[in-house]
Amino acid sequence: DEILDRDVVIVGAGPAGLMAARTLQASGRSVAVLEARDRVGGRTWSREIDGAFLEIGGQWVSPDQTELLGLLDELGMSTYPRHREGASVYLAADGSRHEFTGDMFPAGEHTEAEMERVIATLDKLVAEIGVERPWAHPLARELDTVTFTEWLRQQTDDEAARENIGIFMAGGMLTKPAHAFSALQAVLMAASAGSFSNLVDEDFILDRRVVGGMQSVSQNIAAALEEGTVFLETPVRTIRWSEDEADGRVLVRSERVTVRADHVVVAVPPNLYSRISFEPALPWLQQQMHQHTSMGLVIKVHAVYERPFWRDKGLSGTGFGAKELCQEVYDNTNHGDTRGTLVAFVSDEIADGLFRQPAARRRAAILRSLANYLGEEALEPTVYFESDFASEEWTRGAYAASYDLGGLHRYGADQSTPVGPISWACSDLAAEGYQHVDGALRQGRRAAEAILAANG
Ligand code: FAD
Repeated sequence: DEILDRDVVIVGAGPAGLMAARTLQASGRSVAVLEARDRVGGRTWSREIDGAFLEIGGQWVSPDQTELLGLLDELGMSTYPRHREGASVYLAADGSRHEFTGDMFPAGEHTEAEMERVIATLDKLVAEIGVERPWAHPLARELDTVTFTEWLRQQTDDEAARENIGIFMAGGMLTKPAHAFSALQAVLMAASAGSFSNLVDEDFILDRRVVGGMQSVSQNIAAALEEGTVFLETPVRTIRWSEDEADGRVLVRSERVTVRADHVVVAVPPNLYSRISFEPALPWLQQQMHQHTSMGLVIKVHAVYERPFWRDKGLSGTGFGAKELCQEVYDNTNHGDTRGTLVAFVSDEIADGLFRQPAARRRAAILRSLANYLGEEALEPTVYFESDFASEEWTRGAYAASYDLGGLHRYGADQSTPVGPISWACSDLAAEGYQHVDGALRQGRRAAEAILAANG
C-alpha cells in the first residue's frame, strides 16, 4: 500500500478536525484529514427530505460564540435570526396551557420566585468557578460528587421549579437525566455559555442560524483546503507510534490509506476513541478516563407545514413543558421559506421509551405533543423527520459526550494532555462553546496552534 507523508494527520472531518487542518495549512504545514463518513461536518448535517431542507444536527449560533461568528465572516457566510415574535406556550405539570411573553414561565408566583433564586445561585457559582478549569476550583469535588437532581433538591422544595430548571440542563443541554450528571457538570455547561441565565434564555442560546445550514461551514472549510487533503469513507483503525523511532513519526492506518506524519490530532468525540487501536496502548489514565464519558440521547424532530400556522394565532412557535413528550419546541422555518417548520426535542429517558415504539406510533405521539402546544394543525405536517444520531456508528448519541458522576473533577485536568505525538480536539472537551460547534472550532485551532508552537 502507498504511504502518504504529511506533517500532521487529522482523524475526523467534523468542525474540530477541519479547523485544525485549516489552521495548519495556513502556516504551511501539509495535512491529511481522514473521515469515516461519506461526508464532512460530523454532527452538523443538512439534508433535503421530501423536498424540505432540514438541519439534522447542530444549527444554532449564540452571540458569545465568537470563534464561529468570526469564521462565518472569514468564509463570507451570513446568519439570520430565529423567528420569535408572538407568545410562547408553557404546559404546566397539571396539563394546563399558558401563553406568555418575556423570559419567565408563568409557573405561578412561588415557583417563579424559586426559579429566579436558584438561577441566581447558579449564576454566582458559574461566575466564581469559570469555564477554563472547573475541576481546579476548591468546590469542584463537592459539586462533582452530587447529582444535579440532588443539588436542586438541596436548593428548593418547589418541585415545579426544580423540574423547570432541570429540563434546561438535562433534557435541553446535556441530554442525560439530571440524576446521571453532577452539579459541576451543569456548572461547566452554563459557564460555557457565559452564565446559567444565558443558557436558559432561548433568545440568547438559540439566537441565529446559518444561511445554507451549519454543515456548510464544514463544507466551506473543506473546500478551501488544498486538493487531496480530505479522505472520505476512511475510518481510522490504528494509530501506531514509537518513542524510540529516530524520526519520531506516527503511522495512521485505515483500510484505504496509511499516512505517516509527525503528529496526529484525534478530532472525534471521546466515546469513540476506543474504536481506534493505539499501539502502544494508551496509558492507564487515558484508558480509564475515556470509559467515563458517554453520549447523551436526544431525538431532534422536524415537522414542516404549508404555512407557519402558529404565527397566524399570535404564537412564536416556542413552547416548554417539563412533563411533555417534547419538552421544547421552536419555530425552525428556513431563511426565505414560505412553509413553516417546527423543531422539537425528545430527550434521554423519554427518548428511550419512544425509540422502543414502532415508527408510526412514535410519530403520532410526538405530533400529539406538538399539537398540545400549538393547536391541532400540528397533527398534519407535509414532511416529518426524526434525527437519529444514536444509530449512527460514528456518533452514537446526541448532542455530545459528557462525564458520568464524579468524572469531571477526576479527569478534567488531563483530558486534553497529548500522549506522545497524539493530541485531542473535540467540542466535548471544550471550555467556551462546550458541546457546541463554536467549542469544536476553538479546540481544532488550539490543537493546531500547540503543534505549531512545539515545532517553531
Ligand atoms: P463531530 O462533529 O462529531 O465530528 C467528528 C468526526 O469524526 C465525524 O465526522 C465522524 O464521522 C468522524 N470520526 C469518528 N471516528 C472516526 C474514525 N475512527 N476515523 C475517521 N473519522 C472518524 N451545536 C451547536 O453549536 N448548535 C446547535 O444547535 C447544536 N445542535 C445539535 C443538534 C444535534 C442533533 C446534534 C447531534 C448536535 C448538535 N450540536 C449543536 C453539537 C455540534 O454539532 C457538535 O458540538 C459539533 O459537531 C462537534 O464537532 P466535532 O468536530 O468536535 O465532532
